[in-house]
Amino acid sequence: MIEEKILVIEDDIQIQNFMVYTLENAGFTVKGVACGQDGIDYMIRENADLILLDLGLPDMDGMDVLHKIREWSEVPIIIVSARDQDKEKAAALDDGADDYLTKPFSATELMARIRVALRHYYRMTNRKEKDIPDDTIYVNGELMLDNGRHMVQKNGEEIHFSPLEYNLLHLFMQNPGKVLTYHTILQKIWGEGYGEDTQVLRSVMASTRRKIEKNPAKPEYIQTEIGVGYRMREIEK
Ligand code: CA
Repeated sequence: MIEEKILVIEDDIQIQNFMVYTLENAGFTVKGVACGQDGIDYMIRENADLILLDLGLPDMDGMDVLHKIREWSEVPIIIVSARDQDKEKAAALDDGADDYLTKPFSATELMARIRVALRHYYRMTNRKEKDIPDDTIYVNGELMLDNGRHMVQKNGEEIHFSPLEYNLLHLFMQNPGKVLTYHTILQKIWGEGYGEDTQVLRSVMASTRRKIEKNPAKPEYIQTEIGVGYRMREIEK
């Protein structure tokens, strides 16, 4: 039985109803509200395990709702936004949102994003609590990354990576299904204060793709999220 509670902050009643209906059918407990302040109040009073947050709200900017809730809570937050808001999506992710959905989206997409965000959240909380060093063996499709042995295989054959390529692939294998912004990737791989020069990232991404993708021009594993960053698809074997 699922016991998670999801808060939907969305002023478009049709979209709100669609999300509430889909999630209730999937067994979640769902609360729908139509303005930012009601969402914040609900979080303070009742709390939730995940939030779906529309950016364009009648009473306040969705970004302000995000900032407010992030002052005290690490709950997964998925942004729901219109198609032409790439900059805003990237900014929301950099400010602590976990993912985004672009309207219109299907029930399948909605459920997939929620599963990834919840799983990621529990894994992170668990790791923090137990303080586990990462010697995990990550598997996705034909790819296997053994971080204990610092080794990557595709279809059982070892592939050689430069340290930057390895760190990049490791970051994506740790975050299957999750979008990572240029800013997040640069910070994690090149360090705080590296800046926003995405050119070097694009070049390491290109060489990594040549090693893992059948057709680097049509990547199967690490996909470009235009204007935002990249996402590693989860591939069934
Ligand atoms: Ca709206």
